[in-house]
Amino acid sequence: MANDNKLQAIIGHCKEYGFIFQSSEIYDGLSAVYDYGQMGAELKRNIREYWWKSMTQMQDNIVGIDAAIFMHPTVWKASGHVDNFSDPMIDNKDSQKRYRVDHLIEAYAETLEADKGAALIHTMEQLLEANDFAGLKTLIEDNKIKCTVSGTCNWTDIRQFNLMFSTEMGSVADEANTVYLRPETAQGIFVNFLNVQKSGRMKIPFGIAQTGKAFRNEIVARGFIFRMREFEQMEMQFFVRPGTQKEWYEHWKKTRMEWHLKLGIPAERYRFHDHVKLAHYADMACDIEYDFPMGFKEVEGVHSRTDFDLKQHQQYSGKKLTYFDTEINQHYVPYVIETSIGLDRAVMMVLSEAYEEQDLSTAEKQDSRAVLKLPAMLAPIKLAVLPLTKKDGMPELAKDLIEQCKPHFRCFYEEKDSIGKRYRRMDALGTPFCVTIDQQTKEDGTVTIRYRDSMQQERIALNDVKRIVMEKIAMF
Ligand code: ATP
Repeated sequence: MANDNKLQAIIGHCKEYGFIFQSSEIYDGLSAVYDYGQMGAELKRNIREYWWKSMTQMQDNIVGIDAAIFMHPTVWKASGHVDNFSDPMIDNKDSQKRYRVDHLIEAYAETLEADKGAALIHTMEQLLEANDFAGLKTLIEDNKIKCTVSGTCNWTDIRQFNLMFSTEMGSVADEANTVYLRPETAQGIFVNFLNVQKSGRMKIPFGIAQTGKAFRNEIVARGFIFRMREFEQMEMQFFVRPGTQKEWYEHWKKTRMEWHLKLGIPAERYRFHDHVKLAHYADMACDIEYDFPMGFKEVEGVHSRTDFDLKQHQQYSGKKLTYFDTEINQHYVPYVIETSIGLDRAVMMVLSEAYEEQDLSTAEKQDSRAVLKLPAMLAPIKLAVLPLTKKDGMPELAKDLIEQCKPHFRCFYEEKDSIGKRYRRMDALGTPFCVTIDQQTKEDGTVTIRYRDSMQQERIALNDVKRIVMEKIAMF
């Protein structure tokens, strides 16, 4: 399937089966804001859970917190977001359409032959690195890059545009009351560094993890849930002794890639992209990119943030944020390695990988199915229990099985439609296991289990269903 079609097919599928809806759809939607439906909310929660357990429960030295979205406004001064969290933008004077400069040039580069495109991107990265806005504008003009709406090259100068949303706290709308919706969750971890270290008696190296909403006033929001204005991040800051950051950076690159591969996604669908233009706080940084329907794009960042953030907060708050390392008898401000993954991007990655349209036609009849081959541990519904008919005590047996299983995992009961139709619907929802209760069940206590991906069916003991499903959905 062509990539553009694939993205459209996934968006359609998500709406049809209750995964993701446009926010406020009955009012024609709110751009780049999405709601998760009954299936999407489960899928998202399962990915969050897989991340949370991998990053806290399965680690000896990482704890999780849940900081507030609102923070003291000075936090964002100290972090550099008030002054630096902006993207260079350019407007087309004829259409009034605004573009992020790097997106505009990248989109144009994709239309060129591979080596010419790469050369253009390289020049752009150098100009961005030097903050050379005049040079970037010249690059756009020299390449005659056009606005997709007006088709003209009539561009304004390039300006910086801050991506933070602000609002007022309390009743008086003056500047002193301005608060921001956090653009990243990381700062909630930095400002709590000492609280957690002291109350948890944490010893360096240790980490603090957190998941939660973040907000960015993205100018060019596109690609479904890839780039949203309200989204969720899963971040972990790992505090290390200065001088050891290189080895921890490599450790976390490797560990995070292993997490991705455990989703059953083949290694060739991922790649590392080292940053050329480092953010103001970083001494090493890379992205883990996944091959989305729109091509390879960032799903996660691994950043070596030095002692920048803690030092800034120390300076702005006037409070000491040092750690006493008993092994070397020294006080220091720790260095930080950060892993930061967008939960919504992870949802999109998992959906893109899982979605398949299969032609199952035979000589006798035309047939096809849309299936979500989700990892069993992430599937919204783990087990569907389907009585073959509504008679002969089959629904009762089915409901008994559900009662047994539902404290452990999410089940679904369905007695309507032909069994074939019910299987297809479960395929579309990504349900890995369907169990059918039939006449024989009453006679010998066996059921048919059907596997979503292979569509193979097997006869197993009714009493084994719970154990088998639990084994197959285990995260660790
Ligand atoms: P991009 O270059 O795509 O804007 P970024 O480098 O600004 O991303 P980070 O600040 O490193 O992103 O944020 C960490 C992670 O948060 C990203 O890897 C991504 O998965 C997620 N993320 C960032 N911005 C958005 C967004 N607007 N919508 C959804 N997820 C996002």
